Amino acid sequence: MINYKCYTVLMKHKIIIGNWKVNPITLAEARRLLRSIRRTAQDLKSTKVVICPPFVYIPSALSARKSEVIVGSQDVYFENQGSFTGEISPLMLKDLGVEYVIVGHSERRKMGETDEDVAKKVRLLLEDNIKPVVCVGEAEHDQAGLYLDTLKNQIKNSLAKVQKKYARNLIIAYEPIWAIGAKESMDPKIIHEMSLFIKKVLSDMFGHDEALSTPVLYGGSVNFRNAGDIISRGEVDGLLVGRESVNGPGFTELLKAVDSI
Ligand code: PEP
Repeated sequence: MINYKCYTVLMKHKIIIGNWKVNPITLAEARRLLRSIRRTAQDLKSTKVVICPPFVYIPSALSARKSEVIVGSQDVYFENQGSFTGEISPLMLKDLGVEYVIVGHSERRKMGETDEDVAKKVRLLLEDNIKPVVCVGEAEHDQAGLYLDTLKNQIKNSLAKVQKKYARNLIIAYEPIWAIGAKESMDPKIIHEMSLFIKKVLSDMFGHDEALSTPVLYGGSVNFRNAGDIISRGEVDGLLVGRESVNGPGFTELLKAVDSI
């Protein structure tokens, strides 16, 4: 039996990432939402806030930001430049000042993104000094425990092109697909087991120290009511938040709840 306990570590800061998806519909609303988040974020003591708006709002979010809110993006292409109509490259995002990029979200994987695509994006982002937030998660938490192999393979394949020297810039977002957009999140006790399992896979790939310093976040139906419990009992380093991140009052309550832990 592996002692996963040795992978439990208290990170200095909790990381809360808001994935706005295709919301809100107007730039004016996006600005209002960001202003309310910024007002709350400036009083936080131990919580880092990253907002990932749709691409078109990124320049505005960056120009209005203060250091308390970091701007990320929801996706990126796996080449830096060339004939790839409609795509946005890591170097373009870096030039704007984007520091984090979500990759491999289950909604992108559903549109055809493969582990191989994710691996190419992750490699390029790390080389360009941007932090990839790599989403992984099983479609089904089956009784036979097959989901553990699914998850392990997904992590190994998605990080297959990562050199050990870059591993400390990774962030893993564990998002069981069935818990995304659902009524309830996963039980925090199981979230804790899963985060230890992920640290063990990272340790086998990159070494114990790298695994300890890689934040593992949880995502899936997090709201202001359950966020504190997921962080404290789930013992994760942060949260990836969908719906609640575009609900101004709910998200600011969530940030306060997490920061008070
Ligand atoms: C997500 O899509 O990454 C997500 C976690 O969504 P929600 O919080 O709405 O379940």
